[in-house]
Amino acid sequence: MDCVFCEIIKGNIPSTKVYEDEYVTAFNDLNPQTPVHVLIVPKKHIASVNELTEDDALIIGKVFLAAKKIAEQLGLESGYRIINNCGADAGQTVMHVHFHLLGGRKLGEKII
Ligand code: AMP
Ligand code: ZN
Repeated sequence: MDCVFCEIIKGNIPSTKVYEDEYVTAFNDLNPQTPVHVLIVPKKHIASVNELTEDDALIIGKVFLAAKKIAEQLGLESGYRIINNCGADAGQTVMHVHFHLLGGRKLGEKII
C-alpha cells in the first residue's frame, strides 16, 4: 500500500512535525494556504471519514484534542479553522484521513 502519510508517520518521508502522541501526528502542509497550515493525521491508516468505524471514535477525539494543543503551541489564540475533505467532490487528494488546521491570519467568513 502506497500511502504518503503512512510513510511520513513511519519517518520514511521527511516532514516538519509540530506534534505527536500515541494516536496522532501533525506536520506542516507542504503547500500552506495560511501562515499556519498543519495537517493532523491519525497514526492508524483510515482512508477517509467514510471508512471510520465506532472503534475509531477515540482516535477522532484525539485529533481534536491535538488541534487544541497545537493551536496553543503555535499562538493561535485569536482563532483557527479545522477542515476535513472527504471524497472526490471535496477534493480529497490523500486517501489517509487528515484534518487541516488553518490559522495565523483572519480567515474568510465562508468556508467555500
Ligand atoms: P486534501 O486535499 O484534503 O487531501 O489535502 C492533502 C494535503 O496534503 C494538501 O494540502 C497537500 O499540500 C498535502 N500534502 C501532500 N503531500 C504532502 C507531504 N509530503 N507533506 C506535507 N503535506 C503534504
Ligand atoms: Zn496511510
